[in-house]
Amino acid sequence: MSRKLRMGMVGGGPGAFIGEVHRKAARMDGGIELVAGAFDIDPKKSAQMGREQSIDPARVYPDYQTMVDKEAALPADQRIDFVSVTTPNKWHFPIAKTFLEAGFNVMCEKPMTMDVAEAEKLKAIVASTRKVFGLMHNYTAYPMVKLARDMVAQGDLGKVLKVVVQYPQGWLARPIEKEGQQQASWRTDPKQSGAAGCMGDIGTHAANLAQYITGLTIREIAADLNTFVPRRRLEDDGQCLLRLSKGAKGLLHASQIAIGQENNLAIWVHGETASLEWHQEHPNYLYVDTLDAPTQIWKRGNDYVGAKSAAAGRATRLPFGHPEAFLEAFANNYCNFADTIRARMARKKPDPIVADFPGVKEGVAGMKFIEAVVKSSAKNAAWVKL
Ligand code: NAD
Repeated sequence: MSRKLRMGMVGGGPGAFIGEVHRKAARMDGGIELVAGAFDIDPKKSAQMGREQSIDPARVYPDYQTMVDKEAALPADQRIDFVSVTTPNKWHFPIAKTFLEAGFNVMCEKPMTMDVAEAEKLKAIVASTRKVFGLMHNYTAYPMVKLARDMVAQGDLGKVLKVVVQYPQGWLARPIEKEGQQQASWRTDPKQSGAAGCMGDIGTHAANLAQYITGLTIREIAADLNTFVPRRRLEDDGQCLLRLSKGAKGLLHASQIAIGQENNLAIWVHGETASLEWHQEHPNYLYVDTLDAPTQIWKRGNDYVGAKSAAAGRATRLPFGHPEAFLEAFANNYCNFADTIRARMARKKPDPIVADFPGVKEGVAGMKFIEAVVKSSAKNAAWVKL
């Protein structure tokens, strides 16, 4: 199919963070065009974003309900092929449900819903509507993360024994939600964010990364959550012990009060015969260690990466030495999501390399992770099954 897929967006109004990242990333490879949106909770700001994006004013809507009704009424060759949901967490479920049930494919931000019950409902809706659902866990879309996943799967580390994953940030070290900072305000409000703060916002990314690379599942968690900023309503820091499938053990640490830390997501996977290490802030390199040789540094863009991991090769656009990072990782998820929609339209099964993007299964796992860490911490870090 040669035509571009038509994208709609809910969220991503003026001053929003991640909506603009989605818009840039979705359009990066030329296969997707943005044609409609309900961009902001404020209809005037939605209209403003529509003008900034040069979208036909007739397709810029005051709210998502109007958008879904009007889009569904358009002829099939005009209406959107999918919607991207980039609102705060509390809106993910109602918006995703509404669009799926109206026959649209959905790309949704994480965490997928507000709780496990909503997540299970959404899973059933995705199954019954047979629409394509993507969840934006962008960190598993980096080429070197795909390479790491394939190294583990090919047995290069032997049996995985231990995983250490961290995601420290420092931007919430002061109570900036009290000053009305947009991103902090809703993230620290349980009615808009969910049962967890830091663990929902970034701990879920760390948990998803650990499970993607190792192919293991987190089975039990003992968590110690902290709210260091006085009177903040959700935790802003925490550490977890993990028991994973196949007997592996793990540590997960996430923080938003770690001054000096920006987006220091990093992972170490220790196997019986080798270890690997990856850092999101230096994402073009993957480090592999054995007992008998100096550290191997795998560098993105070299042919040997694509030869080892076809998925890493597919996720690479530029030659070595020209860094690729955050925007490209979002674009990689959009490529696979869009090609899966194209395969469905052609009534074909997508190739596994194309179907390699997070979806409703990872969304349910993320909500179980959040529920477990909150429950465990409330019981003085008791072990909780997921
Ligand atoms: P933000 O506050 O910057 O932007 C949210 C936008 O959604 C605003 O424009 C707001 O007006 C709009 N909005 C709110 N309710 C709406 C509604 N009912 N209809 C239409 N628009 C509505 O928030 P953000 O930091 O961009 O985060 C948005 C989502 O993206 C969150 O779920 C967050 O967890 C996720 N996120 C993911 C990543 C990632 O790396 N994958 C990074 C940042 C944020």
